[in-house]
Amino acid sequence: MINIKGISAQELHFLTPVLDAHCDTLTALEREGRRLGRMSPRGHLDLPRLTQGGVNIQFFAAFISPKYRDNSLARAMEIFDIFYREMTENFSLAEPAYNSSDINRILSLKKVAALLTVEGGEALAGRLEVLRMFHRLGVRGLTLTWNGRNELADGVSEAGTGGGLSSFGVAVVREMNRLGMLIDVSHISEKGFWDVLRETAKPVIASHSNCRSLCDHPRNLKDDQIKELAACEGVMGLCFYPVFLGNDGVSLETLLDHAAHIAYLAGVDCIGLGSDFDGAESCIPELPDVTRLPLVTEGLLKKGFSVGEVKKILGGNFLRVMEQVL
Ligand SMILES: [Zn+2]
Repeated sequence: MINIKGISAQELHFLTPVLDAHCDTLTALEREGRRLGRMSPRGHLDLPRLTQGGVNIQFFAAFISPKYRDNSLARAMEIFDIFYREMTENFSLAEPAYNSSDINRILSLKKVAALLTVEGGEALAGRLEVLRMFHRLGVRGLTLTWNGRNELADGVSEAGTGGGLSSFGVAVVREMNRLGMLIDVSHISEKGFWDVLRETAKPVIASHSNCRSLCDHPRNLKDDQIKELAACEGVMGLCFYPVFLGNDGVSLETLLDHAAHIAYLAGVDCIGLGSDFDGAESCIPELPDVTRLPLVTEGLLKKGFSVGEVKKILGGNFLRVMEQVL
């Protein structure tokens, strides 16, 4: 481990609040018969491994798979039930967090602060009432679309049609602003992205997206999108899924290249982490699961980011947006 101004990367990592803005662990637990409180050789993330990896704040997405298109609301409820079952079972290790003061309290107890989010606005079944009830059920973030089209907007796979936010999508953005929920533009079509940034009164996040100019995948953001996200004080989470990082020979260095590109383009204040653990089908070789996360801190320091900048990337930036929005 390298040593900068008397602090090692390892020390810095474990002294800093580390936030991961996206994982698909809730559905992976169900699929793989795992429990969040037990260390497993399967998958990428559980509470013992989060602790080993020094992650203190974890977003848990309720991913609404397209196969549940006709009963998306019931599917969301099933996944919320998994989240709260795990929170109850593992009260000594983690607690649900609903705002910044919850996060501070939970971190002071040396537990993991867990945020419930929804990935796929089809879960709303086209109703603002459902959005308001989701907020009451503890949901604090919504990825407006997955790859396809829903009642709110078009996802990235519909880009060819040029579709953006629907009038219902506009109403959802405004209601999320009012309720205090994180609007997530990862997966949304390019037109949808610009529509959201025009409509929102508060910063938005791209929980797990990388740079299109370094890896030409429709899930990644173009340079002008990254600049605008930053101008609106939003944050994008660096995604560890190799398919969104590059073609061949993706390594930790490739991830750091994306961080450096965003910093050059739009500044450090819009960079965060959004691993996609337990959702990604493959991993960066150096990051087979969350336990190796201190390597990211070491890599960022080696890449030339200052201690203060690394703290922002590890969690400070997302925490700033949450302070503003939730
Ligand atoms: Zn996703």
